[in-house]
Amino acid sequence: PIKESKYIWRNGKMVPWAEATTHVMTHGLLYGTCAFEGIRAYETHKGTCIFRNDAHAERLVYSAKIYGIGVEFSKEEIMEACRATVRENGLSSAYLRVNAYLGYGEMSPSATGCPNELDVIAFAFGRYLGAEAIENGIDVAVTSWRRSAPGTIPAGVKMAGNYLSSRLITTEAKARGCVEGIGLSHSGMVSEGAGENLFMVKDGKIITPPTAASILVGITRDSVITMARDMGYELVEQDIAREALYGADELFFTGTAAEITPIKTLDGIAIGEQGNKPVTKALQNAFFGLFNGETEDKYGWLDPVEG
Ligand code: PMP
Repeated sequence: PIKESKYIWRNGKMVPWAEATTHVMTHGLLYGTCAFEGIRAYETHKGTCIFRNDAHAERLVYSAKIYGIGVEFSKEEIMEACRATVRENGLSSAYLRVNAYLGYGEMSPSATGCPNELDVIAFAFGRYLGAEAIENGIDVAVTSWRRSAPGTIPAGVKMAGNYLSSRLITTEAKARGCVEGIGLSHSGMVSEGAGENLFMVKDGKIITPPTAASILVGITRDSVITMARDMGYELVEQDIAREALYGADELFFTGTAAEITPIKTLDGIAIGEQGNKPVTKALQNAFFGLFNGETEDKYGWLDPVEG
């Protein structure tokens, strides 16, 4: 269940949670014209901070642009809307959902007369894949569903409708007794999880599928790539054949919700050695260290909500 907070930011104004409703003829509902972001605010040694607020605002505007959804606020205004929503709800940590969508006005996929809507929602949120997941890892399945092919619905931007693919993948995985599912790309190479990017470790080297493998270009993915290279790991973005996953020393997911979550089994096959995931552990320590101050935020990724 969603933990309701007091206010939702709508087009520049705070409105009570229960009043943030929309018309059934909203274009975004009829045709899926809704770009969005999932963002986390962490309780840190510097107070409550939004993680990579600027990168999320940037990706939102980029997603919206492709589909002709106007965003009538600047990136800085979107970032401030996110800070204000966390602040005014008195949240010390939160998950934020930002929606940029076409509202009620016209009924046609090519509509140009719908209002541009922008909402920011913030609410309390714990571990996405379960409390044990970060420590012990999760059971994952490669599902029968493929990610959207290049030249169809772009997987590289974050639109609500892309999550039809995620729903198919994650539902099939759950029906097979797993916590999360992976989709292959149109060409049969490894793509990503239903809501996470995927990394594999083999002989000390870190490999992740390239953007051309129908992945969302994740902000946590970028953060892990940046930190891993800074820590001296060799990291390559390259196509991964499905069978290579079963021979990996370590596999892990990254995502705003999933953070850095190890994969314990894939299709019932144990990955690597139980309890021995040095690279995943080192990256988790570096990542979570940003929030308790053990890792220096030399990248400027923490954006304090109190300004
Ligand atoms: N892939 C998909 C399909 C996702 O939904 C997400 C979560 N937004 C990710 C990857 C990870 O992206 P990020 O690190 O920006 O949350």
